[in-house]
Amino acid sequence: MDMITHAIIGAIIAELALWEKPSQQRKHGRWIGAFLGTAPDFAAIPAQIVFSWSAGDWPWIYDPAHWAGAEDSMWLAGYWFTHSLLLPLLVFIYFKHKNWRTWTLVAWASHAAIDIISHTGAWSMWPFFPLPGQIEGVGDPWSWSPVWWLISVMIALAAWYSVSVMTMQWRINNERV
Ligand SMILES: [Zn+2]
Repeated sequence: MDMITHAIIGAIIAELALWEKPSQQRKHGRWIGAFLGTAPDFAAIPAQIVFSWSAGDWPWIYDPAHWAGAEDSMWLAGYWFTHSLLLPLLVFIYFKHKNWRTWTLVAWASHAAIDIISHTGAWSMWPFFPLPGQIEGVGDPWSWSPVWWLISVMIALAAWYSVSVMTMQWRINNERV
């Protein structure tokens, strides 16, 4: 999925996790959630630069063709690691042990979970990387064209709006009790 959709999903998770908190804390939480939701893709930035450069394009030019057959490149080792659910699972157990709040890990892990659904073929996710086993996603229209990025961002924004209305209602009901 595109990075903006991931960020919105991270913000939605913060919205749900912090619904009872004061507005300042919710505001900070949304930014943290958005950052963590999209952060796993930052590990693809070195590969983006190297692949585009070696294809004769400027480093910031995104072209799906640059990525064809590149999934085994060592430049993507970090990408597969940040997209593994094994890492957040281990950290989750540690956080639980320490009695720390875990919603930040949920925001981080939401990225890989969404990517499992939205990656196919050689780019299918390895949920427990570096352990073997790829899961074939449902489809990957997000990788075809910016039109699909726009559509998924719109859907995510609509979901965010619904969730913020819902949590606002929770707060109102909570005050009445
Ligand atoms: Zn990703």
